[in-house]
Amino acid sequence: MVDPTSDLGEDVDEEDAPSCAACGTKIIQSPTHRVVTRVEDGRVQTRHFCSDECKAAHGADA
Ligand SMILES: [Zn+2]
Repeated sequence: MVDPTSDLGEDVDEEDAPSCAACGTKIIQSPTHRVVTRVEDGRVQTRHFCSDECKAAHGADA
């Protein structure tokens, strides 16, 4: 079965794609993809956002 959403010419599997921490959208080769890393409790936490809007909405301050 052909997935009509997978014709982006990228080999990123949707299973491996990060999800936006604010809205849950799968982020696959998005030009507006934002990544925020911060250290919490001595561990690096990485959060992905699909856009600056979601990043701001989630209160990320990086
Ligand atoms: Zn989002």
